[in-house]
Amino acid sequence: MTTSLDISELHWMLDIVQSIDVGVVVLDRDYRVQAWNSFMENHSGMSASRVSQQSLLDLFPEIDRPWFIHKVETAIMLGIRTFTIWEQRPYLVRFKSYQPITGLADEMYQNVTILPLSTVSAASDHVCLIIYDVTNVATNKRQLETANVQLQELALHDGLSGLLNRRHWENCLEREFARHTRHNSPASLVLFDIDHFKKLNDSHGHRAGDEVIRQVARVTRQLARESDYAGRYGGEEFVVLLPDTSLEGASQFAERLRCSIEQLYIDYEGLILTCTVSMGVASIQENMPGYGMLIEAADRALYRSKAKGRNRTTLSETGELAL
Ligand code: GH3
Ligand code: MG
Ligand code: MG
Repeated sequence: MTTSLDISELHWMLDIVQSIDVGVVVLDRDYRVQAWNSFMENHSGMSASRVSQQSLLDLFPEIDRPWFIHKVETAIMLGIRTFTIWEQRPYLVRFKSYQPITGLADEMYQNVTILPLSTVSAASDHVCLIIYDVTNVATNKRQLETANVQLQELALHDGLSGLLNRRHWENCLEREFARHTRHNSPASLVLFDIDHFKKLNDSHGHRAGDEVIRQVARVTRQLARESDYAGRYGGEEFVVLLPDTSLEGASQFAERLRCSIEQLYIDYEGLILTCTVSMGVASIQENMPGYGMLIEAADRALYRSKAKGRNRTTLSETGELAL
């Protein structure tokens, strides 16, 4: 570019600045507006003549003054351009966002370049703000973050029941088992299985069976504490890990859950379905070498509940609760 622009070149430059799809604002050292392109006119609804010589800080009270002034003064002092990005602050000036399709953002997300302007002779006595509309980038990123959270949920939870899936539940068990063994604190496991579920499927169809699984899971979630880990262990087999809970406490929980499930009236397309579950309860023992043993102990107790006629709770080794 030549150092001295002739008049036609100046017109071109002005045309470009006017039609470019970013905001261009020039401020003097008192933050008064010296230039204001059509992007700024269109989005602010204020013409260049209306804002001329007005302080940008007065025109847009939403600007965080100390932060913005610090940014501008630093840029001028160092004679270098500085930037603000939407991740730090969504916008400098509040403009409406026009996103008719997604409608995800009400306000325009902005990145801003702060460019000190100096004449040949003097130090910077003006500053140029270039304001970029990055709403699309920002909403895409936000959507991606939301999708990632949802994916994470999907990866950890079982789709039908909404409980933790087996893999994730076992990871939790492994961690909790190590923690409780280390601290010598109690933790218990309740394992339960829907009784004669095959018959229910055969009589009313697989979808009716699915609804029963969903409802049993819902009640389980309701009765479990926030700190418990409720998971779907297999087809119609469920597990609840109860940290800091003795065998006695866990058996009370199991009985409460068993009774609640027994009292469920599940409405499936006009049919009222009922079901019962058999429970096995076990606690971490001092000599247990690994969490697998805890599952095995609960499984053996569950098997005994089945053998004794179902719809009951059996405690590992120590005894049995009669119906
Ligand atoms: P028991 O009282 O001994 O537990 O008898 P049961 O019939 O419940 O036991 P069994 O293990 O023989 O049958 C379990 C059935 O659960 C077999 C399988 O088709 C069904 N099942 C497993 N997963 C699902 C599922 O996600 N949905 C439905 N509807 N059925 C399932
Ligand atoms: Mg079963
Ligand atoms: Mg089963």
